[in-house]
Amino acid sequence: MRLCAERVLPELEPIGEAFRERCGLLERLPGALDALWDESPLLRAIACIGLPAEYNPHPLALAGATDGGCPYPLHLAIIEQLSRFDANGLMALPGASLSTRAVLELGDAAQQRRFFERFLDGPHWTFFAVSEPEVGSDASQVRSGWRMDEDGGVRIRADKMLIGGVTRASVGVLYLAGPEGAAPRLAMFEPGAHPGRVETSLLPSLGLRGAGIGRLRIDDCRLPADALLGGHLRGLQQGLNGLTRVFERHRPMVAAMALGTARGLLDGLREHGATGLEGWYLRYRALGRMLDEVAERYQRGESRPAATSQIKFLATEFAERTARLLAHRLPPEAWLRGGRWRRRYRDAFAFEYMEGTRFIHLQHAARAFRPQGGRHGVDA
Ligand SMILES: Cc1cc2nc3c(=O)[nH]c(=O)nc-3n(C[C@H](O)[C@H](O)[C@H](O)COP(=O)(O)OP(=O)(O)OC[C@H]3O[C@@H](n4cnc5c(N)ncnc54)[C@H](O)[C@@H]3O)c2cc1C
Repeated sequence: MRLCAERVLPELEPIGEAFRERCGLLERLPGALDALWDESPLLRAIACIGLPAEYNPHPLALAGATDGGCPYPLHLAIIEQLSRFDANGLMALPGASLSTRAVLELGDAAQQRRFFERFLDGPHWTFFAVSEPEVGSDASQVRSGWRMDEDGGVRIRADKMLIGGVTRASVGVLYLAGPEGAAPRLAMFEPGAHPGRVETSLLPSLGLRGAGIGRLRIDDCRLPADALLGGHLRGLQQGLNGLTRVFERHRPMVAAMALGTARGLLDGLREHGATGLEGWYLRYRALGRMLDEVAERYQRGESRPAATSQIKFLATEFAERTARLLAHRLPPEAWLRGGRWRRRYRDAFAFEYMEGTRFIHLQHAARAFRPQGGRHGVDA
């Protein structure tokens, strides 16, 4: 399936128009997209891509979907196409998120049931919390931690920052350092289950307001031992490797959002009479083909973390360069009136900080030029 090179899924156009209209309100009204969930069965199905079939009340009915599931290249194509309108909408909706993938990768059957069953009752937001104050991108330095207590339970303390959707989430996954000699682990956590010990707050942000980034502080909560994911796996697979596998699926999704955003900006410039954009469209298509290849390899089960870093880095950088065109190629009245294009300009610079920053991906991406083997779950 080669959808990314020039993706046109006509069914998505009405949703895209609704995104365009409502995302404009997100900066003032965090719930601006909620009504869309009720209105559009297709949108509900898109938001739930990635939930296991038995817990997904909204299977996808779109050409290319298989038994209500969505092949990865089709998922990326949907993300890219909707992001041409506004990427914020994809992040503001309830449904699947990074933590979905983490629970699928590392959770046993009982943990998966506990996490996913809630989706059968209605919409839920989830969060995936790695970033921390002072620590930023460097997961090896996290200070939030877990330890076993005398009764066989787990005690956790955490201070997590810049966490998407955390103020609305009913459940999420925390990345926690272990006590002396123990590995870091991912823990399933329900903020509402510990009154007085959990504080969440929305952080002010400049771009991609739909992500709803917030802070989460947890003051010494006791959890059952099976809140820790990956207990049935070998040591190295439990923490950092699990994180790598989650990111390998989600980084190309950020690339798809960045690429779709760039395409939306180019189309906007063209509609406002800008000329000489052929080279920009050529670059867009070349990156689309790279993204296709990453998607198809992932779908085949091949693990190529360096290639995912490469496309994330290149697509993000392309979105930023395209955004810089706006200020001097859009007519001044379009640039200055209403705020739509300035908002989309701000959004274009936030992708860098999602799932790994530029220089870190640049270091990883160099490895994409070396021959690699390996399947998912095996270090390449
Ligand atoms: C829209 C949005 C949604 C987000 N959602 C989530 C979420 O759901 N969960 C979550 O855990 N986090 C989330 N984040 C946080 C994101 O992952 C962090 O912003 C990121 O980790 C960067 O952290 P920092 O701002 O502290 O920057 P830093 O890590 O301090 O990096 C600052 C700069 O230094 C560079 N740098 C850092 N280390 C090195 C190095 N070793 N070598 C060379 N250069 C380096 C970086 O490339 C970057 O340019 C989100 C961020 C955004 C913008």
